Amino acid sequence: MKQVEILLPAAAPHGFDYRVPENMILTAGDIVTVPFGHSESLGVVWGAGKVDIPPGKIKSVRKRHEFPPLSPAMRQFIDWVAWYNCAPKGAVLKMALPISDIDKEPRKKKEAPPEKLPARHFNLAELSDAQKKATVILEDKIGKEFSVTLLDGVTGSGKTEVYFDAIAKALANESQILVLLPEIALSVQWLERFERRFGFTPAVWHSEITPVKKREAWKAIARGEAKVVVGARSALFLPYRNLALMIVDEEHDQSYKQEDGTIYHARDMTVARGMFEKLPIILVSATPSLESYHNAKTGKYAEVSLPARHGGAVMPDVEMIDMRQSPVSANTFISPILRTALAETIAQGHQAMLFLNRRGYAPLMLCRRCAHRFECPQCSSWMVMHKKRGQNSGLRIQEEKDLFSPKPESRIPNSYLACHYCNYRMPEPRICPACGAKDQFAACGPGVERVSEEVATFLPKARVAVMASDSMDGIKDMKNIISSMAERRIDLLIGTQMIAKGHHFAGLSVVGVVDADLGLSGGDPRAAERTYQLLHQLSGRAGREQVKGTVYLQSFMPEHPVMQALLSGDRETFLQAELQARRNADMPPFSRLASIIVEGATEADVIKTAKTLASSSIHHPASNISLLGPSPAPIYRLRGKYRYRLLARAGRSVNLPDFMRALIDMVKPPKSVRMKIDIDPVRFL
Ligand SMILES: [Zn+2]
Ligand SMILES: [Zn+2]
Repeated sequence: MKQVEILLPAAAPHGFDYRVPENMILTAGDIVTVPFGHSESLGVVWGAGKVDIPPGKIKSVRKRHEFPPLSPAMRQFIDWVAWYNCAPKGAVLKMALPISDIDKEPRKKKEAPPEKLPARHFNLAELSDAQKKATVILEDKIGKEFSVTLLDGVTGSGKTEVYFDAIAKALANESQILVLLPEIALSVQWLERFERRFGFTPAVWHSEITPVKKREAWKAIARGEAKVVVGARSALFLPYRNLALMIVDEEHDQSYKQEDGTIYHARDMTVARGMFEKLPIILVSATPSLESYHNAKTGKYAEVSLPARHGGAVMPDVEMIDMRQSPVSANTFISPILRTALAETIAQGHQAMLFLNRRGYAPLMLCRRCAHRFECPQCSSWMVMHKKRGQNSGLRIQEEKDLFSPKPESRIPNSYLACHYCNYRMPEPRICPACGAKDQFAACGPGVERVSEEVATFLPKARVAVMASDSMDGIKDMKNIISSMAERRIDLLIGTQMIAKGHHFAGLSVVGVVDADLGLSGGDPRAAERTYQLLHQLSGRAGREQVKGTVYLQSFMPEHPVMQALLSGDRETFLQAELQARRNADMPPFSRLASIIVEGATEADVIKTAKTLASSSIHHPASNISLLGPSPAPIYRLRGKYRYRLLARAGRSVNLPDFMRALIDMVKPPKSVRMKIDIDPVRFL
């Protein structure tokens, strides 16, 4: 090739043509350095050049790097991901090639001592018959063509051991294996388990690893040296040289949906990559997404079930606390029944968890005189009251020495208000800006900090920790909390959904859900599914070994199907009912959705653009696509931008990405307005 198209890892929809120097031979997929602007950039040869550029104007490729080229399957995958998600091709390449100084070798330095692993608490029991059967089925897929298998097993049934066997089989063929985990940064226990089983540390990939580690990991992956890679969703785009198996653990987890920048669903993209690379995929969950469940029931996916807990542990009892029948006194949130259960279990030397999916102290602050509420100046959301010092909002870390003496949080003076959408902060005000009243503010409702304050009143001696931040500054502290909990140096762990995920705490016997109804409000079509998954996952933390677990759900609507399903343990009936409801409403997985978010700083421009989109002549009745909206987004203002949403719904067979692209191509919005396409949206904010 004399002239080549080079795709750059930047937000461009296509590549740029470059001349190939006399002494260089390039083939598609090669990684090169090219001049770009006033600087240079890495890029990938995407194909032959097409554009007729006068000889004096075209720039030359500077260097070809000695790396295995991106395979045809990988390049097809990138093209497809860009097409499907209506994203610029270069932006997708950036996820495959997220490093710049590719030739830089690591500086020689002293090897850091390996991180000390916390004490081990896992059962080392033999595989059960159900596990053995599952293992045989999964192992049989290795080395064969594309397939998707849903490994569906109750929490504590030993799914990990089962897919570890599949990994072992793939490793024996000298192949690479990718395991995606939500919250990989917190997955100390998973890594420990892996190391014990395989005797080596897998390559770890997530957004928090240092640039140097990232570069080293990327190289090892591209060269095929990293045999097992465990990562967050972004690991799925890396250029594995010799990939043989991909596993998506907790496949239902919402964090697989990337909602900033390039919008995509990592679970679905993993399945797509499996098709291009012709390799098996294993989706793992105790509470499969309705999509995967439906695909398994209709035979599109294979299904392997693990119906019982492993090693003799039994499923926890579920107790419903009807909050209408057992009211709490003013400004408290934990019912007498739950208080007693917590006190008793801790007195017996067991551990407990309290779950509330709300960071901070109180979700709202209200003036008692005039009912003024504090709204974020940039977003349509209430400012959340926090009572903690420092940067890690909602994360209270108690030092070892502190664990025995939790102090009421109210003694800490520096309260502040924070917006959980844009992180805008202000000191807690004393004067009401609306009526001028002084010190008349009331905190409304509980956050985890307030719950911990309440706990200190009736369990003054308990060793309590709060884990509640999704801010990554706190990763190390959160890891500490997890290992302290595993080593039983904490009696009661209070937290948001971080505590629901995958942890194995042998001494945990009571889980209390402060507000089980919290996720069910709002118009989100997936609210029931998500609440069920979260609460079920959380329940699964309890009683994983010898101790029998009990889960207490505080609810004002115990008759709700989600509560009933949790109470009866009848997951199938719930999932079938949810599927039927989706079918009746013509919602996914029986239809496909895509949304357009129109946002900009000038409200009138946003509204005008949204209306133009809605009235655009493109949607023909024959296309089987209905366009709903525009309507103001639930978070109408976000970071100072006004937002409108449109929702397109289509039959399963409709080419929705092309429709969406054509739709926004017809509209020329003012410069200040942005239109974002979200294919298969999972949140509707
Ligand atoms: Zn007031
Ligand atoms: Zn805000």
